[in-house]
Amino acid sequence: MSHLHTTTVHAGRDDFGALCVHAPPLDLSTTYPVRDLATGTASFDALVAGAAHADNPIYARLHNPTVARVEQAIASLEGTQACVAFASGMAALTAVLLERSQHGRHVLVVRPLYGTSDHLLASGLCGLEAEFVEAGEIAARRRADTVLVVIETPSNPTLNLVDIRAVVAAAGTVPVLVDSTFATPVLQRPAECGATWVLHSATKFLGGHGDVIAGVVCCDEAHAGALRSVRAATGALLHPLAAWLLHRGLPTLALRVERAQANAQLIAQRLAAHPAVAKVYYPGLPGSANAHLLGSQMSGPGALLSFELHGGHADAAAVMARVKLMTPAVSLGSVDTLIQHPAGLTHRVLDAATRAASGITPGLLRLSVGIEHVEDLWQDLAQALTGLAHAQAD
Ligand SMILES: *Cc1c(COP(=O)(O)O)cnc(C)c1O
Repeated sequence: MSHLHTTTVHAGRDDFGALCVHAPPLDLSTTYPVRDLATGTASFDALVAGAAHADNPIYARLHNPTVARVEQAIASLEGTQACVAFASGMAALTAVLLERSQHGRHVLVVRPLYGTSDHLLASGLCGLEAEFVEAGEIAARRRADTVLVVIETPSNPTLNLVDIRAVVAAAGTVPVLVDSTFATPVLQRPAECGATWVLHSATKFLGGHGDVIAGVVCCDEAHAGALRSVRAATGALLHPLAAWLLHRGLPTLALRVERAQANAQLIAQRLAAHPAVAKVYYPGLPGSANAHLLGSQMSGPGALLSFELHGGHADAAAVMARVKLMTPAVSLGSVDTLIQHPAGLTHRVLDAATRAASGITPGLLRLSVGIEHVEDLWQDLAQALTGLAHAQAD
């Protein structure tokens, strides 16, 4: 299957012919009968050691066929050998950090990152020491005990693009994790740029309907085995019903992303011309930082944008209160449009200095554009922006 639109529809369905089913079966078993003890023991050993499957699933913390199907589907979309699913995006990142902590102590991290990822890394909770650097400093800051480089692109919430190939080159033998949540495999496939792990909060675009919390890590089979072992030991599982919902959302992924992106492009252009708006962060606008990566690393600018209001916190709060069609809420990547205030919500866990350095000002709002009709979205935003106390005169 060579074209993405076909893969989104058909991936993770290889066993349907043998099962004689047309839709993914949902297996809620917590345990599986072991009638042949020798097979059971061999399966148990294989799964604990990180095998993708075994003759007997044994126990749902070790393997679940419904989860394995969506993992296979997402691996196909990312172009990786494997994918390992977790209870959330944060559980997925935690698993990589725990696995890395077996090999060394030092992690290089490029800001800005998703607020809780930043917090998890900075806290040292997983036994690693995070050093926050600019992308250009990676080569100079590598140490003998550096076991991981973490980047997010596009980044949250200012939609910075980070050059994955340049980071991989600077990291040398140190493996790189790319949080590609904002891009989805429709717009960017970091493994093709040399990333070792591609992480998604599948809660966002992959799930796409605001009803699943999930995380995935796409990588080669050797690294996937290590992550499955961590998952079997720590139990941060994706529930089969969540996996089933996630799989159900995938066939429309490319359509959703393309439509939402087209909406976002038009809204970004109109916001940039609006008198209440001081600045718009969107990779699809002329003059955006690292815009040269569009068309090479990333095939389109995506469906997220942020904008800075002249009127600071007061105007941002007013817009959150006034929107009627858009939902004022955290999260992103759903079919419906969400608007939120990073300084007051998602990036609250960062200290004030880090927020300021990352461009997260009191007047910044982030929009996750959905698949509604763009004129309805614009009408809602325009009425929310009308007559703001601090709007600049035209
Ligand atoms: C939401 C998000 C996460 C965390 O994922 P959860 O599923 O909420 O645990 C990590 N990275 C990015 C970029 C996100 O948007």
